Amino acid sequence: MYVRILGTAAGGAFPQWNCVCRNCQSVRVGSFSGRPRSQLQVCVSSDRTSWFLLNASPDLRVQIESNSFLYPQTNNLGRHSPISGVILTSADVDQSLGLLLLRELQPLQIYCTAPIQRILREDNSMFAMLNRVSDQASWNEISADTKFELKSPTGETSGIKCLPVSVSDHYPAYVSAKRVTELSPKDAVIGLILEDGSGKRLGYFPAVGQVDAHLLSHFGDLDVLMFDGTFWSDDELIRLQGSGQTARQMGHLPISGKGGSLDLLSHLKRPRKMFVHINNTNPMLDESNEQYRQVYDAGWEIAEDGCQLEL
Ligand SMILES: [Zn+2]
Repeated sequence: MYVRILGTAAGGAFPQWNCVCRNCQSVRVGSFSGRPRSQLQVCVSSDRTSWFLLNASPDLRVQIESNSFLYPQTNNLGRHSPISGVILTSADVDQSLGLLLLRELQPLQIYCTAPIQRILREDNSMFAMLNRVSDQASWNEISADTKFELKSPTGETSGIKCLPVSVSDHYPAYVSAKRVTELSPKDAVIGLILEDGSGKRLGYFPAVGQVDAHLLSHFGDLDVLMFDGTFWSDDELIRLQGSGQTARQMGHLPISGKGGSLDLLSHLKRPRKMFVHINNTNPMLDESNEQYRQVYDAGWEIAEDGCQLEL
């Protein structure tokens, strides 16, 4: 399986347009020890011809134009894209807005849980742009613990199988309280375990509210784990803004502290462990910081825009 990481930041990217945190300000004046980042976007392929996006970032248009393997093939008349489909892990804006950037009448497979589909298609009418003509988006309902195969828009198998795993009951803040009562909690946020014919497994878990024994048993079988690196500490945004929600209240396990991801996943030796979905406030982004060294000393990596993996 070929894996390309096109973006690694959480919503708002890095720097974020209205943020005056130390990280964002240092990037703007050119004094930051580290790199700017676009919003999280990963894609996978078994043949490097047909690609599947894991979520669809608000930076998708630029990410496609910055990566020639996602360009249309020039021997095709009219329109073409190597992008065969998109798997959504949540209805979060930074994970789903990019679908609207794929609205130019292209056949696509879209895989998501029933509640995510309902939120996007019934409550947000703009997404109807993906279904203006019959030969456009095909929506496929997926659910936790039921494996499915990724298929091309014309139905050919890709050789990649995907197992969704429920990770959080946290629906996005824009979903009304009434609607949330109608939706199944276990389908709010999923992680993905992707496997091709070689038996190698990629775990994609950009938003994890808590880690339980079920999740840990899956992680032990992975070759690569991409995990929620949103916040370093539980009160990161509160300390910066003086008010707001904790990381856990926002559906993200913090990295540091007792019960944080470095602590809970320290025994995991097999998978290559990478943090993705990193918020611009996270001190580990600064390579001169103690937190950066702590992550690498613990055997983790901080994924960077442009990373390429082969499993
Ligand atoms: Zn910032």
